[in-house]
Amino acid sequence: MRVILIGPPGVGKGTQAALIGSRKGVQTLSSGEIFRREIEAQTDLGRLAQRYISHGELVPNGVTIEMMAKRLRESEVRKHGFILDGFPRTVKQADALNEILFDMEMPLQKVFWLQAPDELIVSRLSGRLGCTKCGAIYHSVNKPPTREGFCDVCNSPIVVRSDDQPETIRERLRVFRESTAPVIEYYKDLGLLVAVDATRDAEEVYKEIIRETD
Ligand SMILES: [Zn+2]
Repeated sequence: MRVILIGPPGVGKGTQAALIGSRKGVQTLSSGEIFRREIEAQTDLGRLAQRYISHGELVPNGVTIEMMAKRLRESEVRKHGFILDGFPRTVKQADALNEILFDMEMPLQKVFWLQAPDELIVSRLSGRLGCTKCGAIYHSVNKPPTREGFCDVCNSPIVVRSDDQPETIRERLRVFRESTAPVIEYYKDLGLLVAVDATRDAEEVYKEIIRETD
């Protein structure tokens, strides 16, 4: 499988990536993950990326692309394919990715655009509660703690995180839509884009993705 998952925070990309990973052995590659790996391994690229990150700056396109190319060439990825999550973020990165995959003779199969109405995402995310001490995550409806207001793990108070306030979520969704629009257009033009109704059960979404790539 060689696919990209595009979708706003809270739409269920992580769930799909986890399902595909555990059932098909396909690894999820994201910018965060490749940065962490390279930094941990203290490679030249990792040290370079770390310099930018520690100064609070964005890692330049060239460095990110070089890391992604390296990761894509790993034997496990060659064998089972990949799910890209959060990459490419720009048309420039998408172009570079196309070139890398073309050289490797591993072209993209599909780009899945997971969609759900903003209000559904807001209600999913704004119900999230985080433990003030250990960071455990709960949900007021889907995964309430045993004792209301307190963490099951460490008994500390649990609260709505500032990231998960409805207004903050709406703003994140707006920024996401704006920044991904050119990338979505790019893949639509290439005929690779598949819009997926992500309001359905995770299992049904999974089946659709598998059907499209088998
Ligand atoms: Zn806790």
